Amino acid sequence: MNFESDPAIAAFRAEVRDFLSEQLPAEMARRTLRGYHALKSDMVAWTRILHARGWSAPHWPVEHGGPGWSPLQRHLFEEECALAGAPPTCTSAFSLVAPVIYSFGSEAQKRQHLPPILCGDTFWGQGFSEPNAGSDLASLRTRAERDGDHYIVNGQKTWTTEGHYADWLFVLVRTDPQAKPQRGISFLLIDARSPGITIRPIISIDDAHSLNEVFFDDVRVPVANRIGDEGQGWSFGKLLLDNERAFSAEVPRNKRMLARLKAIAGAQGLIDDPVFAQRIAEVEVELAALEWLTLRALSEHGSAAATAWPAGSVLHVLGSELQQKTGALLVEALGERGVVAYPEHHDAEAPPGYPPGPGFAPGVTADFLYRRAVTIYGGSNEIQRNLIARHWLGA
Ligand SMILES: Cc1cc2nc3c(=O)[nH]c(=O)nc-3n(C[C@H](O)[C@H](O)[C@H](O)COP(=O)(O)OP(=O)(O)OC[C@H]3O[C@@H](n4cnc5c(N)ncnc54)[C@H](O)[C@@H]3O)c2cc1C
Repeated sequence: MNFESDPAIAAFRAEVRDFLSEQLPAEMARRTLRGYHALKSDMVAWTRILHARGWSAPHWPVEHGGPGWSPLQRHLFEEECALAGAPPTCTSAFSLVAPVIYSFGSEAQKRQHLPPILCGDTFWGQGFSEPNAGSDLASLRTRAERDGDHYIVNGQKTWTTEGHYADWLFVLVRTDPQAKPQRGISFLLIDARSPGITIRPIISIDDAHSLNEVFFDDVRVPVANRIGDEGQGWSFGKLLLDNERAFSAEVPRNKRMLARLKAIAGAQGLIDDPVFAQRIAEVEVELAALEWLTLRALSEHGSAAATAWPAGSVLHVLGSELQQKTGALLVEALGERGVVAYPEHHDAEAPPGYPPGPGFAPGVTADFLYRRAVTIYGGSNEIQRNLIARHWLGA
C-alpha cells in the first residue's frame, strides 16, 4: 500500500529502511526469512539493537519508553521489519503483559519489570490455558492459596509459548473457589525460576519446540506480585486477550509470506502459469483489503467508532485464514519438495539426511504445518465467530 504521497510518511519509511539496512545482521535476516521459530539469541540481540535506537516498544506510551509514533507509523515500522527479515521481540512481554503492568500495576511493579523488558533482559510466558480450560478459560483450576504475605500456587498450565525461554510468567490463578468463576480469578507475576516450577516441552507438528507445559507444585509467590486487587484478574486477562486479537491480523507476516510466495513461484516458473498467477493475485487482493481494515481499526482505536464493530475478532479470523491460504500456496509452489517438512534447522544448508535443494525449500512446509495453530491461539476462530455473531446479531 502506498502512503508515500505524504512526505512525512515517506521520510519515516526511508528512515526505518536505512536503519534496517545498517543494523539488521544479514545472517539474522536469513534465518528469520526461512520461517522457523526465532532463536532466543536472535530475539535478544535484535531487541537490544532496537532499544539502542529507542524503538523496541513501538506501541508503548512515551512515558514508559515508547517512541511516540502514530498508529500508521507503527504499522509501517512493523511491515518494514517483517519484509527485511527482522526477528520478533518477545510478544508475551511487549504486547501482552507490559500493557497490563503499565496500565494497572503498582509503581514498584512498573519499575521492576518495564525497563528489563524494554532492553531484552527479561522474557515472559503467558500462563492462561490449562488442559481443561482453553476456550472456556473461566473454568481454570490452578489454585493460589494465601499464606501470610505469599500465595502458594498449585496446578498446571499448557501451550505456554516460549515458556522455556521465560524468566517470568504471567498467570491467571483461582484465588476464590467459592466465587462466581470469573470473580475468583487473580493475575500473578511469577518468577519462572521459583522452586516448584517444572517446564516440559510440547513438540509441535513441525517437529519444533516452542510450546510447553508448566507445572506448579507448592510455588511461593509474594502477594506483592499480584496485579490489582484479588479477584480482578479476569478483567486484566480479558484486556490482554483483546490486545492479542488486535495484533492477530498479522499484516506484516502476511506480506512477508506473499513476498516469499512470489519469489518461489518465480523460481519455479509458476508465475507464468495464468491459473497459479491468478491464485496469487487473489491472495494479494485479500491482503490489501485486510490491510485497509487493519488501518481502520488502528485509526479508530480508543474512539467511539471502535465499538461499532468487533475489530479484534474480525481481524483475527481474516488474518489467520489468509496466512493458512498463503502457506498452502507456498507448499504447492514447491512442487515435490513441498512434501518434505525440513525440521527446524537454522544453518544455510538443509539438515543432514534431508534432500539438499533448492535453497528456498527448508522452512516452508514446517511453517505451513505450524500455522495450522493460528486459527486456534489467542481464541479459536469458532469462538471469534461466536463473538462476531453476538455483536451483530445479538445472538
Ligand atoms: C500454537 C499455540 C500457542 C499457544 N500459546 C499459548 C500461550 O502462550 N499461553 C496460553 O495460555 N495459551 C496458549 N495457547 C492456548 C490457546 O489459547 C488455546 O489452545 C485456545 O484458546 C483453544 O483452547 P483449547 O486448546 O483448550 O481448545 P478447546 O477450548 O477445547 O476447543 C476445542 C475445539 O472446540 C471449539 N469450541 C470450543 N468452544 C466452542 C464454542 N463455545 N463454540 C464453538 N466452538 C467451540 C474450538 O474452537 C476448538 O475447535 C496456545 C495454543 C496454540 C495451539
